[in-house]
Parts: sequence; C-alpha cells; structure tokens
Amino acid sequence: MAERLRVCALYPQLMSIYADRGNLLLLERRCAWRGIGFELSRVGHGDTLDPDAHDLFYMGGGQDRDQRLVADDLVTHKRAALHAAAARGAAILAVCGGYQLLGHHYELGQERIAGIGLVDAHTVRAPGGTETRLVGNVAMEVTLPGLDGPRVLAGFENHGGRTHLGPDASPLGRVIKGHGNTGASGFEGVLDGGIVGTYLHGPLLPKNAWFADWLVQTALGRDELAPLDDRLEDAAHASARRAAGFPI
Ligand code: GLN
Repeated sequence: MAERLRVCALYPQLMSIYADRGNLLLLERRCAWRGIGFELSRVGHGDTLDPDAHDLFYMGGGQDRDQRLVADDLVTHKRAALHAAAARGAAILAVCGGYQLLGHHYELGQERIAGIGLVDAHTVRAPGGTETRLVGNVAMEVTLPGLDGPRVLAGFENHGGRTHLGPDASPLGRVIKGHGNTGASGFEGVLDGGIVGTYLHGPLLPKNAWFADWLVQTALGRDELAPLDDRLEDAAHASARRAAGFPI
C-alpha cells in the first residue's frame, strides 16, 4: 500500500484557535506534493481514541474555558491511548492550551485542571489580568533529533500560564526573542522524542515548513523527505523571524 500519514486532530472544535486548521492543511499539502497519502481523523469529546490508528496527534490551542471542557474527557478517555501511542513512537504536537494539558496539571488560583502527564511539566496561571499575559513574536533555537545542527523556530505566543519543566523534561528550544515557558527560564516548550509541546501558535507550521517536515518524517519513521521548492515557505519563515526581531 502507498505510504500515508495518518493524522489525528484532537478536539478540533474546542482546541482550535489561531490557525490550527492551517497547520493541518500545511501538513496535508506537503504530503500531497511528495506523493504521500494523508488521512485526517477528528477525535472529539466522548470519542474513543485508538492508539494505533494514527501516526501524528495534533492538539491546538484553547482558552481556559475550552481547556476545562476537554480536560476531564482527555484524562479519562484518551490519556492511556496517548501514552500508548507515544510509547510506540507516534509523534504528538500540542500547542499552547494543548501543551499545558500534556503536563501534570494546570493551576488557576484554587482550581487545578488535570493533564495527562505525558511530559514532566506543570502550568500555573499568573495572577492578574491581560497585563500579565506573555504575548508577542518569538524566535528560538531548537536542536531536533535527526537534523544536523540547530535551527530557528519563529512564531507567536499569547498565554497567561507559566509552564515549569520538571527534571525529567527537556525544553524544545532556547528563547532568542520572546518570553517562552515562564518569561524567565529562557526556554520554550518541551521535547521528548517525537512529543512536542510549544506555546508557538498561529500558523506555526506555515511559518516553519522545515519543522512540519521534521514532524512528518518523525511520525513516519523516515530519515528524510524529498526536498520541495520552498521559496514561498522560506519567505514566510524570514518574515516571521523579522517580526520577532531576529532576521536571517
Ligand atoms: N488558556 C491558556 C493560557 O492563557 C492557553 C491559551 C492559548 O491556548 N492561547 O495560558
């Protein structure tokens, strides 16, 4: 059978803000241009999750309210499947609100929203209103398994939560411009094999096509993918880096 990438969008109705659909579309196009099939499943509240049916799991951003709505279902009905999928080498990309739920919990004052504990991290909502949110363009240096040397990921963050990594977690990257996990640690996101959590939302993958390709090759267990004509994608990446004040 021809090769295909099986992508699972988790809670596409509730955990999808700031162009999360565009990220999925980019994955689909880059697979199509290479002759790789693409299958998208949407798994929402109350649905069963088959750990073996997908190569790449995607959970987008969500505000506190949406996170409350999905957290119980995620922990009760999808936690075991996501742990099993990660253990057999599936890739997982969780963005912002989704990233926060990969950790142990998300604390908002007296309230504690449970996460699935797939990574050793927890998030605490900063007290105060919009003035305490960490907002703006970000550039960070990342070193990913299988790629030669560090690369730059550029994107946009907007979060009230501060994510603290435990001793068993490694960050996705080192912040060059922007706030990152806590605004003070100098690190952004989390990386564990093919599991990625990041605060960079918006059109993360269109701004960083090289990173989308890394996700695809990791999810498919490939060493590399055929190169594409990336002039437009390179221009999008350069523009995102300029916005963050870290031009090429
Ligand atoms: N509710 C989370 C926070 O503000 C995540 C927000 C988001 O996904 N943009 O920290």
